[in-house]
Amino acid sequence: MDGCRDELAAARRDELAAALMRLRGRIAAACAAAGRDPAQVRLLPVTKTFPAADVALLVDLGLLDAAESRDSEAAAKVAEVAALRPAARVRWHMVGHVQRNKSRSVARWAVQVQSVDSARLVDALDRAARLAREAGHRRDALGVLVQASLDGDPTRGGCPLPHLAALADRVAAAPQLRLEGVMGIAPLGVDPEPAFAQLGAAAARLRQAHPGAVELSAGMSGDLEQAITYGATCVRVGTALLGDRPLTSF
Ligand SMILES: *Cc1c(COP(=O)(O)O)cnc(C)c1O
Repeated sequence: MDGCRDELAAARRDELAAALMRLRGRIAAACAAAGRDPAQVRLLPVTKTFPAADVALLVDLGLLDAAESRDSEAAAKVAEVAALRPAARVRWHMVGHVQRNKSRSVARWAVQVQSVDSARLVDALDRAARLAREAGHRRDALGVLVQASLDGDPTRGGCPLPHLAALADRVAAAPQLRLEGVMGIAPLGVDPEPAFAQLGAAAARLRQAHPGAVELSAGMSGDLEQAITYGATCVRVGTALLGDRPLTSF
């Protein structure tokens, strides 16, 4: 039994290692084409729907960051990964919509929330991070990226670009939060380049007002090359690393 399980884990590890190599090749090629240093582009694995065992294998391959998009799934997985790899300091990121009543949980496991798109959420996360610190669940301020809406559809999340600067100012003024940059998701089914160009310009403006807010999280499995062209410092990759997800509403 155990031998069989070990073989399966070894096969999955090889599969992930091969996907990681292909992905690093894509990132390197996109950086070369854009005249950028690949060291400036962080690969953030998006592990939603995939088991804790996969995150443990990614840790073994040297990937110590992981992202999730739902608190309920993430909170359990964070604990499982900690049990599987107790010595690893995995940095967990939240990239999905945060319901305000989930802020307290998210502030316990996330080093960074990339999907902050409203003033009310800023206030809720600031309170939550203070409580998490007081309870000993976290030591540092909670990193925040403000999420820009790039498709004109507020139901898909994100703050409209004209309001992004004010939202960033609010994050910067929150004592328990640290403004780290901007995140965006390109609209579905159209050329992502105009959206990434807008996002890159918004990130540059934000950096002028807040020199520490250097992160630009843009690009996923299908459009990371275009995002790198427009200055992405973090690409969020699920499918191209871990494989197809079961069809869900993620
Ligand atoms: C799922 C998800 C990703 C990864 O998408 P892939 O196309 O599988 O690479 C990136 N960003 C966010 C916000 C996601 O929810």
